[in-house]
Amino acid sequence: MATSGTTQTRTTPPVLNATQMERYARQLILEEVGIRGQARLLRAKVLAIGAGGLGSPVALYLAAAGVGTIGIVDGDRVDLSNLHRQILHTTQAVGQDKTVSAQRTLAGVNPEVTVVPYQTVLTSANALDIIREYDVVVNGSDNFPTRYLVNDACVLLGKPLVDASILKWEAQATTFLPGRGCYRCLFPTPPPPGAVPSCAEGGILGALCGFAGARQALEVLKIVLGVGETLANKLLIFDALEGETRVVRWSRSPECPICGDHPTIHELIDYEQFCGMPAHDRSAAAVGPIPEITPEEAQALLANGAVQLIDVREPWEYEDAHIPGCRLIPMAEVPSRLREIDADNPAIIYCRSGGRSGKIVTMLRSAGYGKAVNLRGGILAWSNARLPTE
Ligand SMILES: [Zn+2]
Repeated sequence: MATSGTTQTRTTPPVLNATQMERYARQLILEEVGIRGQARLLRAKVLAIGAGGLGSPVALYLAAAGVGTIGIVDGDRVDLSNLHRQILHTTQAVGQDKTVSAQRTLAGVNPEVTVVPYQTVLTSANALDIIREYDVVVNGSDNFPTRYLVNDACVLLGKPLVDASILKWEAQATTFLPGRGCYRCLFPTPPPPGAVPSCAEGGILGALCGFAGARQALEVLKIVLGVGETLANKLLIFDALEGETRVVRWSRSPECPICGDHPTIHELIDYEQFCGMPAHDRSAAAVGPIPEITPEEAQALLANGAVQLIDVREPWEYEDAHIPGCRLIPMAEVPSRLREIDADNPAIIYCRSGGRSGKIVTMLRSAGYGKAVNLRGGILAWSNARLPTE
């Protein structure tokens, strides 16, 4: 008894230093935040999927509020046409990796925050490992395969997911808390390919992205602080042109294939196949000169079967080391052996570092092999990713 009494009277070291007290002063005086809430924010780890129109305001507000660790997943580079809405990035950053640009901007806003960059596309192969490290996930992706992927990964790992989407003049936002339903409960099936236009096709105002992203940031802060009512089981729909806001209530579906009473999905699946569309920024889909995939994406496709893997190097290179399951068709022989390649199924073409295979992909595509893709970085990148060779 005497010992515990002594402990209680001893002064504990301050949770926040003088700089932090000043930096966060205006939110500290909110009774729902206070020093204890600020300490929670500083300890929190939040993952933003995408450093684009939604991810930008999300990351900026979370960094400014002192969320201690912010992970950012994005495989894109900054494009001039991004800047009117993706306010993390500056004109000087055009051409740079988005995660690098984001890290620099956020360090300027709040150097106390640790930004963890993942310059990669989120895939079934890497999603669980990345998401597992975080307390809350914010979805800022603009394509359906990634939305379903992030949802399923969050359900499987029991992570809260703050979702939002924007199209033309409309923004939607909702929150999925573990045990209270998921994206599949709300949207059981993806829309048919091409039914929903992208930002590149439909157009978007940056300020609307800011509205939706700020709404997501608010959700994250409330979840971390454990205060107030979140958007769980509520879909907020904002029509910016009419200035109208609606809230549609939704609930967990007992029939949901992943969070329902009798789930049938127990691991991540092939989301491009499920949605019938590619899992990258739809605005960039048609622009890339040579369609490429990363070693991790290739591995995920191969694990799913129904994909051809073709090595276009020379036989001696093949003998030295090759990717299991590949077929050797040396570059010079491809034109005369086209019949050996099935045009109806995806074909991953690789060489040593991606140069020769890139040329073959271009040739194949012009010959009607629309599903041929290049393995970015070739077998060197594959090995660097610690994937098996034989
Ligand atoms: Zn569900």
